[in-house]
Amino acid sequence: MHGNVTRRQVIQGAALVGAVVTTGQPALSQGSSAAPPVRPKVRWTEMLPDELLEAIRPHPICYCAYGLAEPHGPYCALGLDWIKAEGIVERAARQHGGVVAPSFAWHVQDRPYFDWLGQRGVRQTLCSAIPADLWLRMALYQIRAIDARGFHGGVLITGHYGGLEKDLRLLCEYYRRRTGSPLQLFAAADAELIHVPGYAGDHAGITETSQLMALRPKLVDLSRKAEGWPSGRWAGCDFPLPDGRSPNAEIGERIVASQIARLGEIQTQLLAAFKPRENWQAPSLTDAESIWHRFESLTRKYWWCSLTLEENDQHKDLTFPGWPALGE
Ligand SMILES: [Zn+2]
Repeated sequence: MHGNVTRRQVIQGAALVGAVVTTGQPALSQGSSAAPPVRPKVRWTEMLPDELLEAIRPHPICYCAYGLAEPHGPYCALGLDWIKAEGIVERAARQHGGVVAPSFAWHVQDRPYFDWLGQRGVRQTLCSAIPADLWLRMALYQIRAIDARGFHGGVLITGHYGGLEKDLRLLCEYYRRRTGSPLQLFAAADAELIHVPGYAGDHAGITETSQLMALRPKLVDLSRKAEGWPSGRWAGCDFPLPDGRSPNAEIGERIVASQIARLGEIQTQLLAAFKPRENWQAPSLTDAESIWHRFESLTRKYWWCSLTLEENDQHKDLTFPGWPALGE
């Protein structure tokens, strides 16, 4: 994630996009009697044609993971955000059913008017970054493809966050609004799914590092110490923290388990909210292109990704005025 995010920013606005809206975190399901089936194959790209159709039929949910490579201290693999998001959605699909969409580990990092690489946060390159509009545009085409392939719900999880998850939600909202699609969508930063007291979104901190230790233990080497926080070389964190805590796989497992449980609830809500539309056809690629251009022209100035460094420093909030105010 980006380093200048607060927990409040991360937690705000996590909601189902579309017909289903939740407020706050429902209690996690407790004590289910039978162990859930674990599916051996969940990746769209690894399935045979029949396997994909058979996976979609009982659980028409498609998971998309977003992340990138960027420094996360000298002790974590660069791809932490991506590997975490992918690991979480794969576990969720194995446990609850659903399909994991083909991967794309490129995301928003350095941006015009916000010199993240030069002045703040992650001061190095080594990031697999693309422009914000390209990332959002790609996400729109993914949503359109999920719709066109017959899924009832799309779950979009970004392991790289700090505000851009709000832009993703705006896009999801617009897609449904503009097209009238019955597709149900949920978009969030992975940190918004965590339900373990004392652990929230961070950058290469105790939460993210513990998550990676749970998901891919060989990609963390805590013997490599950070040189100061938050802007030291490789943007890492000094462990143990002042309260004595250090990242570990055990807490990472608890964090990830809480996220998987939450995704199970979300998946159930999306499927329950889906109301088929007779003869529904997802927009064509040409239609999707005009949806993109309209979305971009109406909303670009409200994107979190459009925030300048000065506006960020002045805590300016580019409040979205609502669709009717924009003539939609
Ligand atoms: Zn991160």
